[in-house]
Amino acid sequence: MSGFVFAEKPIAIESGEGVTLTADDGTEYLDFGASYACTPVGHCHPTVVEAVQTQASELLFVQGSYPVEARTTLYERLADLAPGDLDNVWLCNSGTEANEAALKFARSATGASEIVATRGAFHGRTMGSLSATWKPKYKTPYEPLLSDVTFVEYGDAEALSAAVSAETAAVLLEPIQGEGGVNPAPAGYLETAREVTRETETALIFDEIQTGLGRTGSMWACENDSLTDAPVVPDVLTTAKGLASGLPMGATLCADWIAESAGSHGSTFSGNPLVAAAANATLSVIEDDALAANAETVGSYLHSELADSALPIDEVRGEGLLVGLEVGRGANRVVRDLALDHEILALPAGRTVVRALPPLTVEPAHADAFVEALETVLTATAEQ
Ligand SMILES: *Cc1c(COP(=O)(O)O)cnc(C)c1O
Repeated sequence: MSGFVFAEKPIAIESGEGVTLTADDGTEYLDFGASYACTPVGHCHPTVVEAVQTQASELLFVQGSYPVEARTTLYERLADLAPGDLDNVWLCNSGTEANEAALKFARSATGASEIVATRGAFHGRTMGSLSATWKPKYKTPYEPLLSDVTFVEYGDAEALSAAVSAETAAVLLEPIQGEGGVNPAPAGYLETAREVTRETETALIFDEIQTGLGRTGSMWACENDSLTDAPVVPDVLTTAKGLASGLPMGATLCADWIAESAGSHGSTFSGNPLVAAAANATLSVIEDDALAANAETVGSYLHSELADSALPIDEVRGEGLLVGLEVGRGANRVVRDLALDHEILALPAGRTVVRALPPLTVEPAHADAFVEALETVLTATAEQ
């Protein structure tokens, strides 16, 4: 089932340090995709590695009904970091599970069943989250999925308001769509989502699995003043991906009214000590090294370098270090050429968008290298 990224030249990665990945033939790659945002503090950050080693030698696992320091600390830390009053924390092992829990909690708290999601959305691949994911390619072979999901155009506040009623359990949104092509919420959209869901007593769920943890320049995108005038606090916020530096961990952060009637959800590995230790260390580094601020600084620099360049790019979208470049042609091919000819690992997001989401520790010089390589690749493809 598992294909290599570049079928013609699989790159076998042997080690990683900071923003660099090294292959088994010694080639060093600049990591501009962070394996889908999973390494916010860079590869093998010493604080994270040490925390994992220490925890591994003390206790790998104990069932969740016994308090363990690593897990207890993580509950507190996430509650502190959460926007508004979302201080009820459910821990799991992936992004899709975090959304799965969010949808279950929303149904049990509201007593309603319908879900409103957006065209282009990506929320994961288990049955519930998949039902709220847009792309038919991911869904068709597994149908029927949940039947009561309505999809509305992303960014269309009127369509969203019209779709939500007292029968709606949840509105599920990414503040910036990631896989869908790096589409930021237009001005006023998140506010409208908040207002309409409050009126109908619907749970507003923000999927911040790709946008959270400092990536857009603020800890959470729903607090980012480029997207909203004032922070928009949802009822549930989900995070995963870089939370434990790529070890499997997701979290569902909930308001009291959601948590009070969350029901009997559970998972054996929830908050397991080893991964919790990695998450605590990752969050410490993000805070101590002010990596959200660095994402804002280097992200702005990258945006302006791209805007000032003569590159044949139709549009640059995103915030901070979640950047999408509309290249108007096969993004896969551009990504391949960046990797094989320039040792830079970026990602596509749909057919025509090249996505940059490097570790948050990236420096302006790395942004320069990315722009320079892109110049060569895009000019070459344009001439063909
Ligand atoms: C990656 C992603 C998910 C799914 O996370 P998994 O850990 O792969 O299950 C959900 N939502 C968004 C926005 C994502 O980027």
